[in-house]
Amino acid sequence: MRRGGLGEIPFTHAYPEIWIMEAADEERARRIVVEFEQTPSSPDTARCAACGEMNPPAFEICWRCGNTLR
Ligand SMILES: [Zn+2]
Repeated sequence: MRRGGLGEIPFTHAYPEIWIMEAADEERARRIVVEFEQTPSSPDTARCAACGEMNPPAFEICWRCGNTLR
């Protein structure tokens, strides 16, 4: 059985989606969503040091390669 893998999701299907694994993370997840919605095209994008991809400011890891952004 093939596992759905991180990094194999086409970007067109990668509209921000947050999976909450623990109830304690819910507040943090909501905050991330709010931050994202409030910054639709912020110039403060974070450039991934590993692959050079630009990531929205709310992202903590690169959507493309998974590298930690901060
Ligand atoms: Zn990257």
